[in-house]
Amino acid sequence: MHEMSLTEGVIRIIEEQAAAQGFVRVRRLWMEIGRLSTVDPEAMRFCFEAVRGNSPAAAAAELEITTVPGQAWCMDCSQTAEIEQRYDPCPRCGGHHLQVSGGEEMRVTEMEVE
Ligand SMILES: [Zn+2]
Repeated sequence: MHEMSLTEGVIRIIEEQAAAQGFVRVRRLWMEIGRLSTVDPEAMRFCFEAVRGNSPAAAAAELEITTVPGQAWCMDCSQTAEIEQRYDPCPRCGGHHLQVSGGEEMRVTEMEVE
């Protein structure tokens, strides 16, 4: 489960930000996870709750996850299409000439701190 190491990365970001900005703890943390990323939001939540206690700055943080839809550029339609999975055909024309253009990211978007 690689979500555990990703979660540890997020905790590190929290600690770095706490040191840099001088806050004590994070109350709430917002993350965006793309549908086409290899990150499972439920596993991410589970791991976060398991390890947040190791860091005073993260111990009380609530994790809010927003799922970002997968997007691809269809070369046949010359339009952007929304896709569920990486190798899905274009929902408009059924073609496979798609280039993924969004939904692969995983990032921390906002923190509520005190
Ligand atoms: Zn198409």
